[in-house]
Amino acid sequence: MKRLAILGSTGSIGTQALEVVAAHPDLFEVEVLSAHSNSTLLIEQAVRFKPNAVVVTDDKKYTEVKEALAKLPIKVFSGHGALADVVQWDSIDTVLGAILGFAGLNSILAAIDAGKRIALANKETLVVAGELVMARAKAKGAVIIPVDSEHSAIFQCLVGEDVTKVEKMILTASGGPFLGRKPNYLVNVKATHALQHPNWVMGAKITIDSATLMNKGLEIIEAKWLFGLENDQIDVVIHPQSVIHSMVQFIDGSLKSQMGLPDMKLPIQYALAFPERIKNDYKRLDFKDFPKLAFEAPDYKTFRNLALAKEALIKGGNVPCVLNAANEVVVNAFLQNKVGFLEMSDMIEKTLECISFIQHPTMEDYLQTDKESRIQVTEFLKKSQLSIY
Ligand code: NDP
Ligand code: MG
Repeated sequence: MKRLAILGSTGSIGTQALEVVAAHPDLFEVEVLSAHSNSTLLIEQAVRFKPNAVVVTDDKKYTEVKEALAKLPIKVFSGHGALADVVQWDSIDTVLGAILGFAGLNSILAAIDAGKRIALANKETLVVAGELVMARAKAKGAVIIPVDSEHSAIFQCLVGEDVTKVEKMILTASGGPFLGRKPNYLVNVKATHALQHPNWVMGAKITIDSATLMNKGLEIIEAKWLFGLENDQIDVVIHPQSVIHSMVQFIDGSLKSQMGLPDMKLPIQYALAFPERIKNDYKRLDFKDFPKLAFEAPDYKTFRNLALAKEALIKGGNVPCVLNAANEVVVNAFLQNKVGFLEMSDMIEKTLECISFIQHPTMEDYLQTDKESRIQVTEFLKKSQLSIY
């Protein structure tokens, strides 16, 4: 029986993780759930899964959650400080990091410090501070198992292999809803359109990141740190069917891939159960449904976010942290129709140009870089809105 802390339990990954738990009550028990502000769903989940504690990071929701759970033996805490304490409890075996964005970094580091096994969905954690996170995990003996489908695929391909015999890793990308489109089309697209992902149902932020290809850019950086690669060992190929989840090419030219239908419950289940493989009844891939698998090179000129992420990877230091912060802000603005689709890349690029470079950032430097980048990109957004009127 594994006892889990599910951070971000009300999100797309969090709710699917709870489906996995519900399907295997003999294997998993919920010790902790956390959400930010969706108190209604958090309360429902707590009543159903009976964790030892829940943490609501938005302090304004504390009283509501506390009162709703008053008759149950469930501890209720609020704020990020409490979350960082709770994830270190001895009663927890595995922490699923499924909080969105930079906000998830602090609790992951706390879990690492306590030597927990981490099932990591929150890719931004590694994009922002991958070097620091992986070094800390090594020092504390905390194992990190990826949940992101591409990285889970690579992780599965590497079981039984010698990592030094890897030539390169090839991340697949669906291309999103705007595959093949050019700037004259993209200039007019709105959030409602960009939220229609052809293959995956995910949270809003990552769905927009998939449409701009920033998601793949973040995933290249995530792969570098997870698997200890050189920058030129990571390639991206567009594969619109999303059934090959990624590939590893070895020094003898042999390629291994992991395949399956696009369903995040698979990599979630794999990460939670590792090293076991457990049976489920999810729909199987039928090759008759996929008579043609296609592959093409990404269009870096149109989908500039992917090029910007590659540059950030090469520059290193605090540059990926700037990229991530600027991206989180512009995606939020795009979801509110406050910035255009193509303009998002302009804003990120301008922010990258004006934040001071730090080669070997400390945790304090990352916090400062994140803060400054958000202020800077918000200024650019304000200026661009003023220039419209
Ligand atoms: P969602 O937006 O669906 O859910 C985010 C979760 O994080 C919610 O539980 C939310 O709480 C919580 N949260 C949001 N902001 C904060 C905050 N400031 N502090 C604490 N908690 C917060 O996101 P997804 O589930 O789609 O994605 C989660 C992570 O997993 C991301 O890093 C994403 O890149 C990664 N990922 C997601 C995939 C997917 O299929 N969805 C695939 C691969 C990776 P509340 O609901 O209360 O706001
Ligand atoms: Mg992915």
